[in-house]
Amino acid sequence: MSRPRVVIVGGGFAGLAAADGFGAEHDVTVIDRGADFEFLPNLHELVSRTKKPDALRLARRRVVERRGHLFRQDEVVAIDPERRQVLARDGGGLAYDVLVVATGSAARETAVPGAARHALALRSIAEGVAIGERLRRLARRGDRGAVTIVGGGFTGVECLGEVLRRYRQRRGLTVRLIEPGRRLLASQPATVGRAVRAIAEECDVELLLGESVAGVEAERVQLASGSWLRSDLTLWTAGGGPPPLLAQAGLAPAGEWAPAAATLQSRAWPDVFIAGDSAGLRRGLAKQSYQAAAMGRRAARNARRLLAGRELRRFSPLDDQLLITFGFLSGFYVDDDVVVEGAVLCVARELLFQAGMAELDRPRRRGARRRLLRRLRGAVRLAALPGPWRAVLPHPYARAPRDRFDLPALPRVLEWRDAEGGLAAAAAGGSSAGRVAAGAGRQGGRLLRLLERDLSPMPPMPPLPPSFLT
Ligand SMILES: Cc1cc2nc3c(=O)[nH]c(=O)nc-3n(C[C@H](O)[C@H](O)[C@H](O)COP(=O)(O)OP(=O)(O)OC[C@H]3O[C@@H](n4cnc5c(N)ncnc54)[C@H](O)[C@@H]3O)c2cc1C
Repeated sequence: MSRPRVVIVGGGFAGLAAADGFGAEHDVTVIDRGADFEFLPNLHELVSRTKKPDALRLARRRVVERRGHLFRQDEVVAIDPERRQVLARDGGGLAYDVLVVATGSAARETAVPGAARHALALRSIAEGVAIGERLRRLARRGDRGAVTIVGGGFTGVECLGEVLRRYRQRRGLTVRLIEPGRRLLASQPATVGRAVRAIAEECDVELLLGESVAGVEAERVQLASGSWLRSDLTLWTAGGGPPPLLAQAGLAPAGEWAPAAATLQSRAWPDVFIAGDSAGLRRGLAKQSYQAAAMGRRAARNARRLLAGRELRRFSPLDDQLLITFGFLSGFYVDDDVVVEGAVLCVARELLFQAGMAELDRPRRRGARRRLLRRLRGAVRLAALPGPWRAVLPHPYARAPRDRFDLPALPRVLEWRDAEGGLAAAAAGGSSAGRVAAGAGRQGGRLLRLLERDLSPMPPMPPLPPSFLT
């Protein structure tokens, strides 16, 4: 009997997690226009050139084939849900019994004159490398240069942190951030934005809050209030929007995410599952990598149930727990009860990144130990260590602290909710620190176990716990 055909469009967090959920009893093809998976949540580290591009990518063919499936590098240009077929630009049609659409989000065009031409975006490794290189040349020039980051959301703030991580001592360089809202990281508790703002001001960043950009030219930007500011490098950090394919395929109204039921089935076509950023759920969900991966896993389980004629289950989003890094100058852990600040949180995030990549690049046989060791070496490269750690290394590896960010400091609780006094606050802080440490410890333990094993075919690892990434 022929195996049910499953096609997964998009090999990002959701698509690869979905691929993981099917076994040899299914005939699975993953299609993506790009050869490499890119770990988008850490792209900002290319801005400071702390991470090398190769550390952030994995060959999709290897990842998919290791799961026993087929990878096709091609662009899907149309979906015909009636005939159960996808049409790829180069490879023609591909029939399916079940389709998983995991096409993520697309770059959002901005209407601001000159922005598309002169400002750089950060949505891919290639763009991150280009920004890092432009910044390096600008900092080397020696005369006065200016960097403008447009947007004070996650990407803007994380980019700013990376610029400061590398160049905060360069006196000739003006660094500015422009945000139309009145505060940074508006979606997070106000204490986080305030703490970031305090660090930025201490590092002489020009913060223009409540201002927006009306035009961009090669070497300057115009504010909505009319004035022009010199800007040798302008970074545009607006978020993404729905990929046009969703509407073209009849899965979404024009310009919207594809409406999905709680089972992740398309509301238009029950044999089509929508996972990751592309999904429009009734209960809005943060467009985050860990939610995308969780949706991919649920979509695969439900697709198997559908094929087996069993009842489908609802998708339960993961709790939001965020770990935001600010160029290793500081980090913030945010969950329902508490906000904790401390540079040590950056190390936890690095560990989560390495564990996330190692899980996707699941080791098998020869070469796996080498890849894992390379990954760990990359994680502890001297240049990548937080300043305080480098300050306490023995001679000749130590580096003299340049400012307070290069000195060790204890994490502190910035805010707690539902805690009525000092003791309750301390308890909330302690239990949050415990949760971060436990998460990081679990990932670290898994990495060590991976290294220890003799790498004959491994059983699948359990899914990552709710990621702390953002
Ligand atoms: C700069 C940046 C920073 C981020 N930071 C964080 C963070 O710190 N923490 C966090 O949790 N999340 C972060 N995110 C969000 C996170 O990356 C996304 O939520 C996640 O990637 C969504 O996963 P996905 O699988 O839905 O889509 P993606 O990972 O975007 O994958 C979609 C894939 O589909 C492919 N595709 C699309 N259309 C087609 C087509 N027609 N044919 C073939 N292939 C197609 C694309 O090539 C892509 O590979 C960030 C995103 C960006 C851009």
